[in-house]
Amino acid sequence: MTSSSHVETLALWALGGLAVGSFLNVCIHRLPRRQSLVFPRSYCPSCERTLRWFHNVPLVSYIWLRGRCAMCRARISPRYPLVELATALVFVAHVLAFGWQPLLASRLLLSSLLIVLFVVDLEHRLLPNAITLPGLLAGLVLSALMPPGWVDALLGAVIGGGLLWVIGETYERFRGEQGLGMGDVKMIAMIGAFLGWELMLVTLVLASFAGAAVGLFLIIIRRASMQYALPFGSFLAAGALVASLCGTRLLNWYLG
Ligand SMILES: [Zn+2]
Repeated sequence: MTSSSHVETLALWALGGLAVGSFLNVCIHRLPRRQSLVFPRSYCPSCERTLRWFHNVPLVSYIWLRGRCAMCRARISPRYPLVELATALVFVAHVLAFGWQPLLASRLLLSSLLIVLFVVDLEHRLLPNAITLPGLLAGLVLSALMPPGWVDALLGAVIGGGLLWVIGETYERFRGEQGLGMGDVKMIAMIGAFLGWELMLVTLVLASFAGAAVGLFLIIIRRASMQYALPFGSFLAAGALVASLCGTRLLNWYLG
């Protein structure tokens, strides 16, 4: 493959990522509200009028309309272009890391689910079963057909879910309040099913360090109380994306 055709291939993957990101935005808006993903067509959340196709071109429409609805001029959340852009970047990074092989499809599906969970947990403190449970099943089926293999995938799901369940139960018993929810348990099981038990553990370590760092930072700058509930699912999502892209290298480096 010549380098110019390589650049063209990556550009196509980036465009594909923008289009998928646009659909993920629909999931992010509608899943927590228990609305259908296919009906009605995309509408403005403010005036509820149906968008025309040219109001709905990923990234381009947001810039062209300067972040406002074409009909009622209400502000459009910057979340829309950010999710589209992030999806495009994550897709291109995975294509660069894996090349064209079946595992790429599995990791792109996982990435898409993680992006939705990241934003929904951040905005609603919620990890919908509609994502985690089908995701867990898809991860187990795909992993039986390609790396990490069904044994590692099953171990990843059971150990990951079991660990977070035990930590959550223990915390609740001693503190009398909920620290981790069942959503976190199902989410790490899904991640374990896709990535296997080793990269699932890398995900847990990365998410815990990131969560602790952000928590300390918030306590220092905002004098937030220790009770401030961080969206642990968002940290799990970010940790799993890093683990998917370079977890094996991190693991080899750590184990010397
Ligand atoms: Zn509007």
